[in-house]
Amino acid sequence: MKLCTFDAGSGPEVGLYSRSALIPLSRIVPRAAPDMMTLIANWPSAQAEVCEVERSARTFVPLEQASLLPPIARPGKILAIGLNYADHIKESGLATPKHQVWFSKHATAVNAPFDPIEVPKVSKRLDYEAELVAVIGRRGRHIARADAADFVFGYCCGNDVSVRDWQVLTPQWMLGKSFDTHAPYGPWIVTADEVSDPHCLGIRCFVNGEKRQDSNTRHLIFNVWDQIAHLSQAMTLEPGDLLFTGTPGGVGALMKPPQFLRAGDCVRVEIDRLDAIEATLIDES
Ligand code: ZN
Repeated sequence: MKLCTFDAGSGPEVGLYSRSALIPLSRIVPRAAPDMMTLIANWPSAQAEVCEVERSARTFVPLEQASLLPPIARPGKILAIGLNYADHIKESGLATPKHQVWFSKHATAVNAPFDPIEVPKVSKRLDYEAELVAVIGRRGRHIARADAADFVFGYCCGNDVSVRDWQVLTPQWMLGKSFDTHAPYGPWIVTADEVSDPHCLGIRCFVNGEKRQDSNTRHLIFNVWDQIAHLSQAMTLEPGDLLFTGTPGGVGALMKPPQFLRAGDCVRVEIDRLDAIEATLIDES
């Protein structure tokens, strides 16, 4: 299933993308799906009901009458792993990390899947990073690698937009990764049952139609299960938390010469089975 949050003029609603339109779940099953976080938390009991709605739906909102919003407006945590594809490590000239390298993107960085991304006032070294995003579905601590799949609700396309000079100004990358609008993801959450194996998905990034990144999630160094097992040793993972799982080679900062994003550019991230997100760059107002 493809589950989204949209606004068709009366505020945020949960939708199910089906037959090229949106089924307004918040109207049809308001108790199960008042918002995406509640639906994820309710999923074990709501799934059958939502399947039935998909089968029997008569009410559809045309996609062109709706704005897609971030699937979850305020994730409790947005955790992102660095240096997690061999070709990206090679282009960066850094050593392959022995340990998973994690940083946070903050909730104020969340952006809708087709909304503009801001070029900051304080930097022109803005870059893209196409990434598979995993959405946590169940609360858990000390999750075994073998059980990790049970804790994933679904997957999205994401762009770990990065302000490169701010990222490397200090040993902590966090500030350069957390500017407003720099965590776009979506367009919907594709439920885990529909993806089955998240480690065989083609992942691509285009800037103004030019292919810049072209890889496959099979090349992740620490895969999604490794990531969940590792993180949950330290912290409780909760429904709606997002994991940005790393970017392959081809980022703009490491091209020769470097190619940074500028106002007017169009950046698109697509992942097999998860569709695509796309944004125009604008100067921060
Ligand atoms: Zn990244």
